[in-house]
Amino acid sequence: MVDEEKETQASEVKEAEKQEDGEKEKPKAKFTFKCTKCDSCCLSRGPIPITFWDLEMWAKNGVLANFMPYLDIYNKPDTGIDLILKPLPPPQKEGEEKKDMKDPFATVPIEELLNVKCPLYNKDDKKCLIYDNRPLSCRTYPLEFDGKNFIVVDADCPGIGEEEMTTEELKEMRDTAKTMHYELTRMRIALPVLNQMISQKIMIDLMRQNMEAMSKMSDDDRAKLDEIFKKGSEEK
Ligand code: SF4
Ligand code: SF4
Repeated sequence: MVDEEKETQASEVKEAEKQEDGEKEKPKAKFTFKCTKCDSCCLSRGPIPITFWDLEMWAKNGVLANFMPYLDIYNKPDTGIDLILKPLPPPQKEGEEKKDMKDPFATVPIEELLNVKCPLYNKDDKKCLIYDNRPLSCRTYPLEFDGKNFIVVDADCPGIGEEEMTTEELKEMRDTAKTMHYELTRMRIALPVLNQMISQKIMIDLMRQNMEAMSKMSDDDRAKLDEIFKKGSEEK
């Protein structure tokens, strides 16, 4: 028994030494980042998730209403729901019917807009139109936190490895990534609940309005309505 214990201890020490050697051979690459302002993420990131943090910041800065035309609900393929900055629709093709400029997104399915330019990026001036009010997701890009680990979501981002970072800068970026994870989780819990509650409320209000309208109908109008329903069910 004692021999067995000694053997186990020896093999554990060897394993630890092996791991140490392995770590020495392959040192972990240190994450360093400085945005080069190459604009590639603003041109192709697709829908930017919006969190309560962003809504609160915009409300505090008095610009929330300005963002409303750019916000939309995105039903993700995994059945989750995100509030997003809706990407800009592709430019009008020749011969295509003119888009309704009040809602240029109206006829474009959101799935077709996932890899296009952020609506708030000015390509000519190469600049974010809302830099001081940019969403949290843009502040932490390309670093994300998944609840356990930090992840580089865009290995091709030219800012990675660009310049040494101070400990404080790295800590700040990691803290922002953690805040983003926390805020996105909160949003993804709240959105389906709010969505369901608001849909129910709208349905109930509509039914109440219909019942009120029906109760105010004259006998003649009610008979006409019955006739319409009867015809409809016969046609089926
Ligand atoms: S975050 Fe990366 S991809 Fe985006 S502008 Fe900066 S360097 Fe370019
Ligand atoms: S909000 Fe600004 S920083 Fe964020 S993707 Fe759009 S243009 Fe880029």
